[in-house]
Amino acid sequence: MNIMITNDDGITAPGIIALAEALRPLGRIAVVAPDREQSAVSHAITLHHPLRAERQGDDIFAVSGTPTDCVNLGINNLLDFRPDLVVSGINRGGNMGDDVTYSGTVSAAMEATLMGIPAIAVSLATSGEGKSYEAAALFIRRLAQRVAEEGLPSDTLLNVNVPDLPRERIKGPLITKQGKKRYQGAIVDKIDPRGRQYYWIGSIEPTYEDIEGSDFAAVIRGHISITPLHLDLTNYASLELLRGWKL
Ligand code: MN
Repeated sequence: MNIMITNDDGITAPGIIALAEALRPLGRIAVVAPDREQSAVSHAITLHHPLRAERQGDDIFAVSGTPTDCVNLGINNLLDFRPDLVVSGINRGGNMGDDVTYSGTVSAAMEATLMGIPAIAVSLATSGEGKSYEAAALFIRRLAQRVAEEGLPSDTLLNVNVPDLPRERIKGPLITKQGKKRYQGAIVDKIDPRGRQYYWIGSIEPTYEDIEGSDFAAVIRGHISITPLHLDLTNYASLELLRGWKL
């Protein structure tokens, strides 16, 4: 099995190192990841300046761009094989509910899915540095084998969130739906040392609504959450409603 790994926390992050270690027994593992943290860049692609890729070892590249750049460059240029699977993570912090729309981790998996390659995004739902990357990585090894055997539905990636608990306390996986984030106006509004106003988004830990069957509901109860995400964002139930507007 040929697997490409990427992330948005940067190539030296503990999550990607644990992931590469755990997946190595499955086959040939390549790492193509940002040379610095690129969290919350979503599906951004770099078009207005050149990218550099530094070879750090056999099949290991640090790229001066976004997670989406890494998937593009890795598959189209840097690797001399086409991956059977792309795994993005393990992110430091959960990517649940509406947060998937900001996530560089999830977007890297989206990019692979757009290129027709099965993809898994994986995040450790931690508010600190994270203790359970190895446990999460071992679960992804099992899941990756299963994805290789079964394939994935078209235009669909798996968004996995693992609670940051000791391995023996992590409960089995639940198949979940995307949940809802609770917004709480987390913008700092202060004056800088030169007397100018500044704003800083996102100082408060995100919280989520406890919706039955959701990603967050699973993780808060100690389960691994697996959400199948579809790249077609169309709200089919609204098509008829809007056609009824007779615009
Ligand atoms: Mn991140």
